[in-house]
Amino acid sequence: MSKTKLSSNSNIDIVPAPEGYVGHGFFATKFDQVIGLARANSLWPLPFATSCCGIEFMATMASTYDMGRFGAERNSFSPRQADMLLVMGTIAKKMVPILRHVYEQMAEPKWVIAVGACASSGGVFDTYSVLQGIDKIIPVDVYVPGCPPRPEQIIDGVMQLQEIVKNESIHRRASEKYQELLESYKFE
Ligand code: SF4
Repeated sequence: MSKTKLSSNSNIDIVPAPEGYVGHGFFATKFDQVIGLARANSLWPLPFATSCCGIEFMATMASTYDMGRFGAERNSFSPRQADMLLVMGTIAKKMVPILRHVYEQMAEPKWVIAVGACASSGGVFDTYSVLQGIDKIIPVDVYVPGCPPRPEQIIDGVMQLQEIVKNESIHRRASEKYQELLESYKFE
């Protein structure tokens, strides 16, 4: 889809419209695509930061990288007002019930990004006390590699998630497959 400029003398691209029919004074598209577009560009992050990767996230949220460009500048420290859980850092096994509780408190639709090696796989901490990847306890949509990942990589993870959100049917969360996924993690 071609990019649209904010104005003729601007170098700022605006989010492209979904596919549809354009006529004189009207534009028609699928409801799924409009919802996907709105959701993908208003993902409110819940940062669950336990160690160094959290510092990279702070840099990502600051002015140089500016998450406001993605509609994701509004951190939510209340799970009920967040769409995108970003888990950053080493998750000790003692933290497992807390992380699961936070995930459970988030309203649907919700998505999860595992930021960095520790959240994705336990990282260098291959030890009895560290969870070897958060996907052992909650479903993960995007994994961001690195120890730590640079802000550009975190932004890339968010953009990957935007693609998932944009193309996900509004019915997926009610589907049998999704229910089975939640059941496999023993969520009701
Ligand atoms: S992945 Fe590396 S930088 Fe990130 S929390 Fe683990 S040890 Fe720290």
